[in-house]
Amino acid sequence: MPRKLAAGNWKMNGLAASLAEVETLAERFATPSCDVLICPPATLLSRMADLPRGAIEVGGQDCHANPSGAHTGDLSADMLADAGATHVITGHSERRADHGETDADVAAKTEAGWRAGLTAVVCLGETLAEREAGQTLGVVGRQLAGSVPDGATTAKCVIAYEPVWAIGTGLVPTLDQIGEVHSSIRSALVARFGETEGGGMRILYGGSVKPSNATEIFGVADVDGALVGGASLKADDFGGIISALEASVG
Ligand code: PEP
Repeated sequence: MPRKLAAGNWKMNGLAASLAEVETLAERFATPSCDVLICPPATLLSRMADLPRGAIEVGGQDCHANPSGAHTGDLSADMLADAGATHVITGHSERRADHGETDADVAAKTEAGWRAGLTAVVCLGETLAEREAGQTLGVVGRQLAGSVPDGATTAKCVIAYEPVWAIGTGLVPTLDQIGEVHSSIRSALVARFGETEGGGMRILYGGSVKPSNATEIFGVADVDGALVGGASLKADDFGGIISALEASVG
């Protein structure tokens, strides 16, 4: 079974001075008992990769579906790998909303990440209107089917369930609500990719995870870690979440 994963998404935050947070984390978690990943803005990727960062892995926040070409401002998965990334986030709800990315786009980017040797962290999640209309499991199931390409394995793919209404809002679903969605994602993964790959694929929860709520969230079945936005920017906060994940492993 792959180890649990604490993944930080810095989004459009961070200047060179922020790299000190990673050095602090690397000192505190020299040999973590879970995987730790930070996805900085592209401007910091190679500098972060070059730091003495111990076991902390570095990832991109998005990639283009093509390996190269006339796509001003975009980055290919090969470029991320060349800069030192081992992972790439695909289908974050902010990309789906801000850039109109469809499930097909997300699947193409995920495959591009795989071709470059990256593990893709594929994001899914319902809006508040969809949740209130009782559509959560249907929406997440459709996103999963459309965004995760055939051939997904535990090594190549991580799923992140991130309710859109919980991202950056301080709102968090109940533990039962998280458990219901994770269990439904697990069933779909096992049905499609089999007991070994679908059963082992990590499913992260994301949306206003903080040190104060991490322990209870990590106690929910089929929660294999977290994708963390705001609380990943400071070593103290992200460190508290990593510690909670380590404690959940025992
Ligand atoms: C995210 O953007 O992936 C996220 C989960 O953000 P936050 O932790 O700030 O809600």
